[in-house]
Amino acid sequence: MPVPSSPVPDILIGDVVRTRKPHPCGGDEWTVLRTGADIRIRCNTCGRLVMLSREDFLRCRKAVVKRGG
Ligand SMILES: [Zn+2]
Repeated sequence: MPVPSSPVPDILIGDVVRTRKPHPCGGDEWTVLRTGADIRIRCNTCGRLVMLSREDFLRCRKAVVKRGG
């Protein structure tokens, strides 16, 4: 099986990302708090915590606004 070169940058703690669908609160920027098999992110607008699988996170991430690490 060929190894695809990753088109998306890796996930780093402290990353600020924008999602395809905004949060119900209206915000669409999130801060990555924890990485691993599950990704924990916090809405920058209302502070709500959300846990996503790595796959789901990469699917809904539209852009990295600020690099963490
Ligand atoms: Zn929110």
